[in-house]
Amino acid sequence: MPGTSKRILVTGGAGFLGSHLCDRLVNAGHDVICLDNFFTSQKSNVQHLLGRPNFELIRHDVTREIWLEVDEIYNAACPAAPGHYQYNPIKTMKTSVLGAINVLGMAKRCRAKVLQFSTSEVYGDPEVHPQPEGYVGHVNPIGPRACYDEGKRAAETLFFDYHRANKVNIRVVRIFNTYGPRMHPFDGRVVSNFIRQALEGTEITLYGEGQQTRSFCYVSDLIDGITAMMDGPDGFIGPVNLGNPTEFTMKQLAEIVIELTGSKSKIVIKPPVADDPKKRQPDIRLAKAKLNWEPKTDLRKGLAETIAYFRSIDMAAFRAPTPNY
Ligand code: NAD
Ligand code: UDP
Repeated sequence: MPGTSKRILVTGGAGFLGSHLCDRLVNAGHDVICLDNFFTSQKSNVQHLLGRPNFELIRHDVTREIWLEVDEIYNAACPAAPGHYQYNPIKTMKTSVLGAINVLGMAKRCRAKVLQFSTSEVYGDPEVHPQPEGYVGHVNPIGPRACYDEGKRAAETLFFDYHRANKVNIRVVRIFNTYGPRMHPFDGRVVSNFIRQALEGTEITLYGEGQQTRSFCYVSDLIDGITAMMDGPDGFIGPVNLGNPTEFTMKQLAEIVIELTGSKSKIVIKPPVADDPKKRQPDIRLAKAKLNWEPKTDLRKGLAETIAYFRSIDMAAFRAPTPNY
């Protein structure tokens, strides 16, 4: 093991983003602890790492105390797809808030550096476009997305207060829509839904007229940004936007997925979703300036990789989230 090897905890490490981060850190020779309660993921995401001497898997819930000795913590544990986080909204809020308190307490005790996986949802349905980090957001605190948006906002508050009050060494990244292999096929997110529907030959469900926009970042680009932030200049703690600024309407996305899969599926308009942000695009000037980071993968290339992954898995082996009260 090289002398630069660190002991690193990844909460939510078996999830879509967490498992790619674990791959990156294990392959770099770090001693990685993946902690997950498997609420929205399954062991298959990290099965290939189980025999590695520098990888350890712990089944645990971040709302409960975590007592480990580490140098760095990536806090990714939280259901991220709207269908998943609305399944048990109170638990979602507890995961963000109690999870943040537990990792921050642990970081304080171990003097570890701790990075929070925050989200573009802190901007809500934005009135400023594209969204810079200084925009304080437009969030409905009592709507169906509030359990996630307000939980993540409260977690950011806790990170900055632990930093100011207790000098905890924090990093906060605001992640915009990210996609790629290991997305859960039934998570209801737009990329996984459209690809699954196209491959099954069923209707492509477009909510509303499909004129709402998102900007999609491929997973490997995002992991580059996240590790750059953790390893970035001292004193640059964020929040920093990470995402791909190229914006598409959901109708355009549906058409590209149909083209790339060669599917005969038809696009069907479904009722609009409550509090659905109408547009979203990251302003990534800060990440470019401070981290020398910008995404490299265009949507068609990333979608082709994701479609290949969805073709390779047995979708019947994936289950919806379990009750978790
Ligand atoms: P995911 O659902 O695949 O991963 C989340 C992981 O956290 C899962 O493995 C889940 O089982 C685990 N988890 C949930 N609650 C937990 C708890 N109480 N204790 C322990 N583990 C728990 O979703 P993802 O897309 O990989 O998201 C990872 C993180 O990135 C989340 O914090 C999410 O808010 C953030 N994020 C993701 C995106 C995106 O587009 N993928 C965008 C913005 C923010
Ligand atoms: N969406 C859609 N059809 C689907 C799933 C999602 O039209 O089958 C839309 C959804 O209304 C939203 C966008 O796609 O406008 C992105 O949704 P997703 O759940 O992926 O993420 P988020 O809303 O959190 O950005």
